[in-house]
Amino acid sequence: MMHAANLINGQERQGEEALAVYNPSRYDHVIGTIPRSSAADVADAVAAADQARTIWRNAGAMARGNALFSAARIIEAHRDELAILAATEMGKPIGEARGEALRAAAILRYYAGEGARSVGEVIPAGNPKTLQYTTRDPVGVIAVITPWNFPLAIPMWKIAPALAYGNTVVIKPAELASLSAYQMLALILSCFPEGVLNVVIGRGREAGEALIRHPRVDAITFTGSSAVGSHIAEVAASRGVKYQLEMGGKNPVIVAEDADLASAVELTVSGAMRSAGQKCTATSRVIVMSSVHSVFRDALVERVRQLKTGDPLDAETYLGPVVSASQKESVMSFVEDAKRSGGRLLIGGNLPDLPGHFVLPTIFDDVSADAPIAQEEVFGPVVAIVSAASLDEAIAVANSVRYGLSASVFTKSLSTALEVVDRLDAGMVRVNEETAGVEYQAPFGGKKESSSHSREQGRAAIEFFTETKTVAIRSV
Ligand code: NAD
Repeated sequence: MMHAANLINGQERQGEEALAVYNPSRYDHVIGTIPRSSAADVADAVAAADQARTIWRNAGAMARGNALFSAARIIEAHRDELAILAATEMGKPIGEARGEALRAAAILRYYAGEGARSVGEVIPAGNPKTLQYTTRDPVGVIAVITPWNFPLAIPMWKIAPALAYGNTVVIKPAELASLSAYQMLALILSCFPEGVLNVVIGRGREAGEALIRHPRVDAITFTGSSAVGSHIAEVAASRGVKYQLEMGGKNPVIVAEDADLASAVELTVSGAMRSAGQKCTATSRVIVMSSVHSVFRDALVERVRQLKTGDPLDAETYLGPVVSASQKESVMSFVEDAKRSGGRLLIGGNLPDLPGHFVLPTIFDDVSADAPIAQEEVFGPVVAIVSAASLDEAIAVANSVRYGLSASVFTKSLSTALEVVDRLDAGMVRVNEETAGVEYQAPFGGKKESSSHSREQGRAAIEFFTETKTVAIRSV
């Protein structure tokens, strides 16, 4: 049993009340507790982060980078325990969880290297005796608010660049994944001066709300649902602080006539079913050209039939449970609605006889492009197949949702690939690759309602976590 605590100014601190954390793979199995923190805990964490700003900024970029390198080594050394905890807490299969722990370490290394890279440019000035250049200032105290589906990687892809560029941090991880975040961040806390990295655990509407409204928070970076994201945008705009949002997706794959069908099936299954479909970049719509529809559909169903649903700690498991009872209810309400509204259920659509929040991998065929299951984010192992008579129609269907995060096309034709890349309204377009799995060194983000139109990860992160300062120096 693990008892997570807040981490404020380098010290552990319990909240007034403890909330139980349940294992989604087994009903009623409590694996730990997390504090239910109050606005007073948040205020202390923000005060500590505010206090630590000067020392961290003055440490210089290279020393900050060295601290991040040390943190990466620690996480790598503890990858197995972090993976087991994450798999137990939110149900991701152990292999994926181990990959995520290693990714958190790789992200730290990437941003550690930023400490030795240039941050500005020299720009010609009207007066030849003037040196004009740009540099970058840290923004200040960053509020980091994260979801449960990548309990290690998402906190790290926000915290690592925030710290590398000289900011201090207060993170409020998701209630359903706070043990993992706490464990990972407690391990690396001593790499940084006190107050540079603070963790406040609790409910969104309490601790989260207090954090986004705190007057000494200078910027908010959020990943989660569109509903909470738009609320955060309103609060941030009313306070005049910088914000960044990454939210939902309804990610399509387009299967062209000339696709390598075996590879398209494998990539569709991996994109749709890994992490039980609980990735913002998960494949949830398959738009297939009519001429290959039946062959592709049959092969997809056959492959899905082979997937093992079960204990996330079993190395053979492809899908664990969804994260909670309410997530299971929400996924099943989409499934029941699709059954009623004429989608043809090919496989799944029911619950296995397992003692947790498991949903069997589910495929519906002949789904109308405007049905809820083809429009709304389901966040479960559910795929809707939509048939298209032409590439134009496939692209129109792909673009007909309010989201625009990731999209894939399977084709051997260069011209089809380039046309789809050009015309899809998505922040990330992938050819003969699954919709998930974008690499940490490349910009990540969406169009339309998937994002605040900013980008995370890679070099793109510098835009949010710093502010450009233009300097002119004239010799007299
Ligand atoms: P959520 O929006 O319910 O919660 C996200 C975080 O916001 C949690 O830490 C929660 O406590 C906090 N929160 C809730 N209300 C708040 C408030 N009033 N003020 C401040 N904080 C508040 O999302 P979730 O259920 O944890 O995660 C699933 C969602 O995340 C899905 O919609 C998924 O698509 C999205 N997601 C997006 C990306 C991406 O990069 N685009 C990545 C992963 C997940």
